[in-house]
Amino acid sequence: LTLLGIESSCDDTAAAIVRGVPGKAEILSSVVFGQTDLHADFGGVVPEIAARAHAEKLDIVVEQCLSEANVSLSDLDGIAVTAGPGLIGGVLSGVMCAKGLAAATGLPLIGVNHLAGHALTPQLSHGLPFPYLMLLVSGGHCQFLLVEGPEDYRRLGGTIDDAPGEAFDKSARILGLSQPGGPAIERAARGGDASRFQLPRPLLDRDDCNMSFSGLKTAMLRARDGLVDAKGGLTRQDQNDLAAAFQSAIRDVLVEKTRRAVHMARSCRADLSRFAVAGGVASNMDIRAGLETISADLDLDFVAPPLALCTDNAAMIAYAGLLRHAGGEHDDMTLAARPRWPLDQRSPSLLGGGK
Ligand code: ATP
Ligand code: FE
Repeated sequence: LTLLGIESSCDDTAAAIVRGVPGKAEILSSVVFGQTDLHADFGGVVPEIAARAHAEKLDIVVEQCLSEANVSLSDLDGIAVTAGPGLIGGVLSGVMCAKGLAAATGLPLIGVNHLAGHALTPQLSHGLPFPYLMLLVSGGHCQFLLVEGPEDYRRLGGTIDDAPGEAFDKSARILGLSQPGGPAIERAARGGDASRFQLPRPLLDRDDCNMSFSGLKTAMLRARDGLVDAKGGLTRQDQNDLAAAFQSAIRDVLVEKTRRAVHMARSCRADLSRFAVAGGVASNMDIRAGLETISADLDLDFVAPPLALCTDNAAMIAYAGLLRHAGGEHDDMTLAARPRWPLDQRSPSLLGGGK
């Protein structure tokens, strides 16, 4: 099967070609056009600007991914597109582009949940078989999922407020570092001493795998203001030390809550032996190292996809589409763009909603 994937739910316009079968697929091309520069002056992604830029760039990235893969529309078996969750204008641009292509070619149209794309990435990159425990940790989400099939996600717990990616971005702004905040903080933290500032690690006394990150942001703000009051500003070393303290607080919470999530997952799947991470924050090396260590402790095989597949891309959307297509599922021209779309919505019996 050869699938075209289209992704435009946030600030990356992306298209990719994936070829293969469930469990064994190859990325023939993956084009990502980022919008970081367009939003740089605004301190965050501006939905209207994002939607317009997606509409302008979609045709170009689709053409480019076809030509890089040396594939023509007639070689395709289907067109997969992110149908949510995300910024509605961007999602709509992608869905309209996919509908246009589907109408013109007669190919099946396959709507994909962006989060399913992230959650299935370890299978695309490493052929990781179901079931596995997944920590999906990105700009807008943070959750532990027991993944038992392409459409079978059991949510075990997650953040009760902010997502870590959001906290990275806001904390980078607090420190005067560039956007996106994750990579900027990771760079700064390399030159920092994580023990100089003590930041909170909330909810670790609780026995579930829920997390909270909004207090961390407040603590960063307080630490920065303390330094500004005391000496008028932040030195490079202050920035580095605070970045390191912040990164290790996030890492500690994720690692410790992984232990609880594994425990919970094993109470429903005693044979659970695989753990994977995905989403933009999963490209952080310190966090990956922490998760790798805890996996070894708990006797789990650990998979972390290559960095370019952790952040937003369309290869993960094409692969999620390939799985749906292989299962005989597709959508029609009534496919709607959804701003919110919890992953476990198809399984009402499961443990709660939210982020
Ligand atoms: P979602 O997938 O939840 O809808 P999104 O698509 O915007 O959100 P991703 O592209 O998966 O999110 O991830 C982007 C986030 O990952 C940003 O918040 C960014 O700061 C963070 N990030 C990227 N690289 C790193 C890194 N090296 N360390 C920490 N965070 C990172
Ligand atoms: Fe994402």
